[in-house]
Amino acid sequence: MSGLSDFIQDNSVMREGNKKPKAIHERFIEFHAQDDEQIVLNAVPGHFATIQSHINYYVDVTSMKVRTKEAREAAKHLVEKMRHKVQVLDTIVCMDGTQVLGAYLAEEVEKTNIGMSPHHETIRVVCPEVNSVNQLLFRENIKPSIQGRKIFLLLATMSTGETVRQSMECIEYYGGDVIGVSSIFSTRHVVDSTDVFPIFTIDDLPGYESYKPADCPFCKKGIPIEAMVNGYGYSKLR
Ligand SMILES: [Zn+2]
Repeated sequence: MSGLSDFIQDNSVMREGNKKPKAIHERFIEFHAQDDEQIVLNAVPGHFATIQSHINYYVDVTSMKVRTKEAREAAKHLVEKMRHKVQVLDTIVCMDGTQVLGAYLAEEVEKTNIGMSPHHETIRVVCPEVNSVNQLLFRENIKPSIQGRKIFLLLATMSTGETVRQSMECIEYYGGDVIGVSSIFSTRHVVDSTDVFPIFTIDDLPGYESYKPADCPFCKKGIPIEAMVNGYGYSKLR
């Protein structure tokens, strides 16, 4: 299945019928995690732009961020993937509004034999401020949750890995040691030798492509960008 051909075909069908194109949320297709039917991701084919790339699917992970039932399920699923690969974890840093999932993940991790650094009794969950150039800021009251700690970075979606790389640099600047990364949807399993534990991968979303803006086939065909996308969601452009 190709997102590009489907999208062009859909658009031509809509034009022939002279109908208004369907809104993004009306075109969601459900994908289930390969090893857990209860965990669902929505995606819609089209022409979307992130800060670094153009993509042929908008991947929506909102339900796992805002619905406690889905977040709890996703946390259980994720901890199974980490169980034998992460030994020590002190703090979960939540990006892209993943703090509900992060809190459930902390609860699940504490039930396993994944340990904490000496003298810590509980996992910390923090949400950094992000400045206008996408750097993470940790205020004085939050710094003790980062400095000298084993950090697990949690994100919503990841395509080029550039945001993760930048976030890891910021955490290291504050004295944290990033021991693992999870993104609800990820195209990668490793960023700069750090393991990534995705809930969904491109194997679950066949045909997903990310392009450099200059090489984007939609732009070359003059198809306008439908929405700007980041880990928080999408903003329509037309
Ligand atoms: Zn494009």
